[in-house]
Amino acid sequence: MIHCDYLIIGGGSSGAVVARRLADRTAGRIILLEAGRSDEGDPAAVDLRRLDEQTADYDWGFRAAPLPGAPPLINYARAKLLGGCANHNDCAFIRPPDSDFDEWERRGATGWNADAMAQYWQRITDTITIETAPCHPASRRFIEAGIEMGLDEVDFSREVRQGVGLFPLNARGRTRQSSSVAYLHPIVNLPKHLEVWTQCMATRIIFENGRAVGADTARGEIRAARAVVLAGGAIQTPQLMMVSGLGPAAHLKEHGISVVRDLPHVGQHLRDHVAAPVVWETHEEVTGWEICPFEATMMLTLEANAPAPDILFHFGLRVREKYDDGRLATSGPAVKASPNVTRALSEGQVRLSGPGMVDKPVIDLNYFAEPADLDLLVKTLKLTRRLGRTNAMQPLLRAEVHPGPAVQSDAQWRDYIRSVCETVYHPCGTAAIGRVVTPDLKVMGVDGLCIVDASVFASLITVNINAAVMMVAEKAADCILGSRA
Ligand SMILES: Cc1cc2nc3c(=O)[nH]c(=O)nc-3n(C[C@H](O)[C@H](O)[C@H](O)COP(=O)(O)OP(=O)(O)OC[C@H]3O[C@@H](n4cnc5c(N)ncnc54)[C@H](O)[C@@H]3O)c2cc1C
Repeated sequence: MIHCDYLIIGGGSSGAVVARRLADRTAGRIILLEAGRSDEGDPAAVDLRRLDEQTADYDWGFRAAPLPGAPPLINYARAKLLGGCANHNDCAFIRPPDSDFDEWERRGATGWNADAMAQYWQRITDTITIETAPCHPASRRFIEAGIEMGLDEVDFSREVRQGVGLFPLNARGRTRQSSSVAYLHPIVNLPKHLEVWTQCMATRIIFENGRAVGADTARGEIRAARAVVLAGGAIQTPQLMMVSGLGPAAHLKEHGISVVRDLPHVGQHLRDHVAAPVVWETHEEVTGWEICPFEATMMLTLEANAPAPDILFHFGLRVREKYDDGRLATSGPAVKASPNVTRALSEGQVRLSGPGMVDKPVIDLNYFAEPADLDLLVKTLKLTRRLGRTNAMQPLLRAEVHPGPAVQSDAQWRDYIRSVCETVYHPCGTAAIGRVVTPDLKVMGVDGLCIVDASVFASLITVNINAAVMMVAEKAADCILGSRA
């Protein structure tokens, strides 16, 4: 049996931040467990331009069902390596607007309002580099198209409002500024009381007298005297809790798992940014982007009284297929504009397919359970089609191929969107503050256990979520150490 003070399970965006901050401020032994490989010195992991070199074993290989009752055909990427999804992503890095954290506070996350969270943004920006995406001529066309439609060009590294512009990236040149790169590398220079164990999966949390005391792992039992810290992400943190006996009691019993504590909200209230694209074939192949094929974005505020933009676009210089059956295939080179609903209301769930961590979780996204999400996308895709007809875009585009001109009525747009809706890979809220954890991130009714990753989001936020995940993790270190300083 191995003993430490803090056992952190998951070395992704949140886990790496928490590990480093605890190591800087305590002397106790910390073990950071990551099921996947190390990212250090691996160009496929840390060079944004070489993302395509990541092979299947950098990912958990999950599939998700987009709509109620639909087969799980969406490739629901979840990184399996140190640095987690921030070594797997496109590095769009935007500070959430104040209204997002103020909404968390309204939902019971006391101490999480925008004013209180500002210091955590400061800590992140003192640690990582944020640069604006380079601008390929085709991305520039998208920005000019937005201006032609009456929008302002906006610097999204300074403000989040309606407009068009470039993504800020957590990157230094082509090198990712994921939390592993910025907070852990070089690993050999880390304080000696912080140990990073890669290729080591936790399979079960161990409890004694209602307290979490450690975990079973690929390297045996690890005991944590002070806290077990869950940082496995919004899919696997609830999975690990459920296989360990924390979750909806009836569901655990279905899989023969002894209930440690009935926590009905674990795995529930899964929120995600649902998107749907318009795809155009281009006259010529778009090549030569410098860092990543998603440089430009547009934010729109379509609903009266929306506290912040309700739509965010990813303009892709290529089409990345998310369905296994290639339903967005094109016969030539293509680009796509994929708007997502920023604070989508529909809630899905994560459930167990079996009693162990090796059993892939069931991910039901349940998109459009709330019809308002679909209505917003109908409005937006009509507008996106108009975007493709602007003077700025026309020289680039040969033809709209998805959905194509046959789709005209609202009913046809709805059918189309339901058939191609896709994720932006932003799951959160599956062990939310106020439902599963207290505002200081302790699991309700269980001593010695806290959660520090995207699972704890009290509601979905307006922008790409990684910056907020890191802010959560910075605050989590304060919560664990019992101070806000
Ligand atoms: C393809 C893709 C593109 C994205 N693009 C963007 C973007 O451009 N901008 C943005 O802001 N966000 C983006 N995101 C989302 C963002 O990267 C994630 O929301 C964020 O990284 C989640 O952080 P996390 O700490 O909650 O989980 P993760 O970063 O997923 O970390 C969880 C880690 O825990 C490990 N783990 C899980 N279970 C166990 C276990 N039992 N034992 C040991 N280890 C375990 C996993 O291997 C993983 O490394 C993207 C995500 C994906 C997948």
